[in-house]
Amino acid sequence: MGFRLAITGVAAAFAAASVGGTDVYAQDNEITVETTELGDGIYMLSTGIAGNLGLLVGPDGAVLIDDQLPNTGELIEGAVVEIAGVEAPRFIVNTHYHGDHLGGNAHFAEQGSVIAAHHNIRSRLEATSPVWARPATLPILTFGDDLSFHMNGQTVEVTHLPDAHTDGDAIVYFREADILHMGDIFFSGMFPFIDLSGGGTVDGYIAAMQAAHDMVSDDTQIIPGHGPMSTRADLMRSIDMLRETSFRVRSLVEGGADLDAVRAAEPLADYHDEWNWRFITTERMVETLYNDAISR
Ligand SMILES: [Zn+2]
Repeated sequence: MGFRLAITGVAAAFAAASVGGTDVYAQDNEITVETTELGDGIYMLSTGIAGNLGLLVGPDGAVLIDDQLPNTGELIEGAVVEIAGVEAPRFIVNTHYHGDHLGGNAHFAEQGSVIAAHHNIRSRLEATSPVWARPATLPILTFGDDLSFHMNGQTVEVTHLPDAHTDGDAIVYFREADILHMGDIFFSGMFPFIDLSGGGTVDGYIAAMQAAHDMVSDDTQIIPGHGPMSTRADLMRSIDMLRETSFRVRSLVEGGADLDAVRAAEPLADYHDEWNWRFITTERMVETLYNDAISR
């Protein structure tokens, strides 16, 4: 399924700014939406340049989990129209405040979508730059611990997990279909971004992944925030990786190592080939683990 849009420098810049200032998502080429049908009216939509989307469609209207970038609104809408036959999702859930996950809020809010998000997402958006704080980008429905939708034969359970990737993360479980969207609590097969300045912590991130793991079974289809469709076994590999790598860095810090000494010890060397990627390189992962360790 090919919906095309020539991504502009502006969209790339928004994406880059949203994930920490590097130009990881900057692209010169057209982007397309790849659609994966998961069953029971649920789809994963992916462009490869921003967070993966979840979509539930049916007679009660569409629910979209995350909405990508400011300039991908029409592209995502095209995919929703093709799948659901409706232009605006009835509801949108933001899994966290990063712009590559909720940058499309304004586009869809203008068409009448109701945007729901954790309380902290709204307050962070209100406190940040005018780009993200435009009135239409703010969720108009906010929640604390959880929120449920009862639509299209699904119980859609939105659960807040504290202090993980940020301080406003939620995962979304389509109970009857047994499909879990994890937002950025899961970077499948790659080092995760843990936004320490956005309220994230390493221990919280591990606990959140473990909580998600304990919710599901080996048959559950898992949509990660970034990366391919995954399973509970894939999630367990990420949990094991983060436990071991954070243990190694903390041990060095407790032994008196400063950042230079931690870097010199190359504590993640044997993880590099499998987990390093352009946004969260092995070096950046070491720095995050170090900064988290000294702030505990
Ligand atoms: Zn994120």
